[in-house]
Amino acid sequence: MPGNLQAGTRERTTSRRTFFQSVAAPVAGVFALPALSAAVQERSTVYNRPKLKITDISTAEVMVHGLQTHVRVYTDQGLVGQGESTDAAVGTAALVRSFRRFLIGKDPLNIDALWESIRTGGIFAGAQGGQYITALTGVEIALWDLAGKALNLPIYQLMGGKFRDRIRMYCDSDMQDPMGAEADKKLPWIQSAGFTAMKIDIDDARDPARFDRVNWTASNGEIDRMVTWVKRTRESIPKEMDLAVDMHGRYDATTGKRVAIAVEPYRLLWLEEPVPPDNIDAMADIRHSTKTPICCGENLYMRWGFRELLEKRAADIVMPDIQKVGGLSEARKVANLAQTYFVPFAPHCVVSPIGTMASAHVCASVPNFLVCEWHWINHRELWASWVKEGEIIVRGYVTVPDKPGIGVEMNEETARKAQVPGTPWFEGNTRS
Ligand code: MG
Repeated sequence: MPGNLQAGTRERTTSRRTFFQSVAAPVAGVFALPALSAAVQERSTVYNRPKLKITDISTAEVMVHGLQTHVRVYTDQGLVGQGESTDAAVGTAALVRSFRRFLIGKDPLNIDALWESIRTGGIFAGAQGGQYITALTGVEIALWDLAGKALNLPIYQLMGGKFRDRIRMYCDSDMQDPMGAEADKKLPWIQSAGFTAMKIDIDDARDPARFDRVNWTASNGEIDRMVTWVKRTRESIPKEMDLAVDMHGRYDATTGKRVAIAVEPYRLLWLEEPVPPDNIDAMADIRHSTKTPICCGENLYMRWGFRELLEKRAADIVMPDIQKVGGLSEARKVANLAQTYFVPFAPHCVVSPIGTMASAHVCASVPNFLVCEWHWINHRELWASWVKEGEIIVRGYVTVPDKPGIGVEMNEETARKAQVPGTPWFEGNTRS
């Protein structure tokens, strides 16, 4: 033992300078950072590799299904991590870049500690939720991608391994009118693409049966219209296909309760946010009044945001948005918390294949995963070529890749087509 220990100590005390000399000296002046990074990865193990240091962070903003902010974290060894955050008002990118002060010079593999330093550094600036946490989320996902690339492992492996190889996706139909020509086109396509679940929206601000432009108490006419949309869709798809229905948290409690009861015959996968999530008691009241499963969570943040929802049994299914809930680690904690209440986890997801694949690693690593959203049916061309790996959904499932990190890389030629005009495209960084 002592001999081994000494040998181990000698190995560990190999200095960073000695190591860099062995790796980089023969190629000094020849290798750019990416090549140096490859050499470091090939000629070392994770135990004797020099510690990475974050050198910069940059952003690119795109508009597809809403605004998404892509994040890159750069290191002194050429490794670059990529992340994506979503649904944030203009200003997220500036917030991300403001996090430089917490990150430059730090070891990117201490993901949770870096996350906590940024979160606690903002508790007087809105770090309880919203845009601050959305911005932090994009950074956190980039750190996970980086960790996977540095350790040569897929993210799911770093999260304790996988419960499943394939992630079941549901198709959000993104329809204005589930009774018209759009539905005649989309419903057959969703089936032919192999999806086993789909979603429609039944809130409609333009419903002629609305008596007030501001108040969201649905009239009988509106409720009849909602039930007709659900019935028509349910009868147009195979009975084996699950149907979820979204009310977008717009209506009041009496409407939410009436609709949840009225759609009971259609055995929905869930009814989503019949009321806003801001009053958990009101959500719980609806849930306890109906047999229709209630789903909630796309606008809640971090584990603290889900605590009351779960404690009060206000939702049958939780749906954190992994691109704004706080990150991959945080989404996993929410899923684990939900599991203690025997509540399944069905992430909200409206982002590109990069964010979707990052979500897939979380979905693979928790036992109570139900189904994950896909929301780019109206942007299929962009979707299919957004990453160099091409289409990632096959017959309604995403296969979790074994490549290091997230496992997909942006195809910038496609992504730049969606760039928000006048915004930086990964500028102000130290890329070689
Ligand atoms: Mg929703």
